[in-house]
Amino acid sequence: MNISIIGTGYVGLVTGTCLAETGNNVLCIDIDENKVKRMNNGEVPIYEPHLDLLFHRNIKASRLHFSKSLKEGLEHGDIIFLALPTPEDEDGSADLSYVLGAAQEIGKLLKNYKVIVDKSTVPVGTSEKVRHVISSVTDVEFDVVSNPEFLREGFAVDDFLKPERIVIGSNSDKATALMEKLYKPFVRSGNPIIVMDEKSAELTKYAANSFLATKITFMNEIANFCEKVGADVDKVRAGMGTDSRIGKRFLFPGIGYGGSCFPKDVKALYKSGKDEGYEFDILNAVIRVNDLQKKILIPRITSYFNGDVRNKTFAIWGLAFKPETDDIREAPALYIIDELLKNGAKVQVFDPEAMPNVKRQFGDQLIFSANMYAALKSADALIICTEWSIFRTPDFERLKNNLNNPVIFDGRNLYDVEDMEKEGFYYRSIGRNFKK
Ligand code: NAD
Repeated sequence: MNISIIGTGYVGLVTGTCLAETGNNVLCIDIDENKVKRMNNGEVPIYEPHLDLLFHRNIKASRLHFSKSLKEGLEHGDIIFLALPTPEDEDGSADLSYVLGAAQEIGKLLKNYKVIVDKSTVPVGTSEKVRHVISSVTDVEFDVVSNPEFLREGFAVDDFLKPERIVIGSNSDKATALMEKLYKPFVRSGNPIIVMDEKSAELTKYAANSFLATKITFMNEIANFCEKVGADVDKVRAGMGTDSRIGKRFLFPGIGYGGSCFPKDVKALYKSGKDEGYEFDILNAVIRVNDLQKKILIPRITSYFNGDVRNKTFAIWGLAFKPETDDIREAPALYIIDELLKNGAKVQVFDPEAMPNVKRQFGDQLIFSANMYAALKSADALIICTEWSIFRTPDFERLKNNLNNPVIFDGRNLYDVEDMEKEGFYYRSIGRNFKK
């Protein structure tokens, strides 16, 4: 099939590349001229494991192309995916200006039947709005389908190629049949394509993300309480997770969720509730608790240094909002860096992939280190913000020798508490064996 993708970011580029991988002819459109130029020069503009292999293979096979022209996109695709940003608006709602703006342009360019697929995460009723915007500028036949994306950054290619489920929200048999045909190669192992009405599809994505954010936040509160009473959250987690109704995944406490999805999606669902006169109490609490959790290390660090971190140097390992991505949107590390700089500290950072993005935001306010050990040089403490695998088994002797003081604030519970004490570290993690 001929497919066009409008918006070639984390979702759009992975979608386009993976659809090319199953034999479709894909044209990816982006408004960012520089990004299009880089992709046309064979450069993958984001870090996502395994994406480069598929990207180059499909370019070579002439199944994957890039352009900044929406007009070309409309001429090329029988199915037009919208993978556009839906960032948080000032009032917490999802900003639909990218999606509705593109819809209007599409309407003006429409010459024959197309299926317009909304892959962006959008509030209930957006498909209807997209349909309305397009039909107000054209008489040409088209269908709008809601097809929310569930891929995880860091596993995006795998998730797209082997999805646990595909959700299609549509009221058109013709469009549904086309979508089922497109996705058939991805569900050969028997995972379902779940077809439903478009409103339910739109809500499914917000419900899933808000549930996951709630699960993390619940464990963060249990971890905080563990510290009050001297319990160990690792043991509580193991005890809880073996209950099949709860499950083992997403029970790891830390310094809060970040990223380009959970924070904005929880707020958008909360705001949608408010707009309908429904108060999502649980989501309100999740938002509040997570905001506090992102900064939970700060009072601990300050109190360790007797209330004054001025002229102290901190090493930070991990800047991305999670491992295996260069995405720093809403990353807890950024909140911690902000607070430390505000309080007069010096900050030396290392991340395997995210440093260029952080450099764009912080410039020379930070020292960007060539490797994880260089970041420790003459630092008064190490702060761990992202659980990249390379941080899991460091050379502790080297770590101790490089640091001024053997002090670690671990926001991701990477090490065993007893081992660290034996190694002679002051080691503070989240929810484990700490009672004042
Ligand atoms: P992104 O910011 O990485 O990419 C969006 C791209 O759209 C950018 O390259 C931007 O230049 C481009 N763009 C903006 N306006 C455009 C226009 N008018 N025409 C063409 N291109 C335009 O965003 P993303 O992370 O890929 O997210 C896209 C959507 O998918 C959002 O709604 C998000 O919530 C949702 N989503 C994201 C993820 C994720 O893990 N990132 C997962 C599932 C769903």
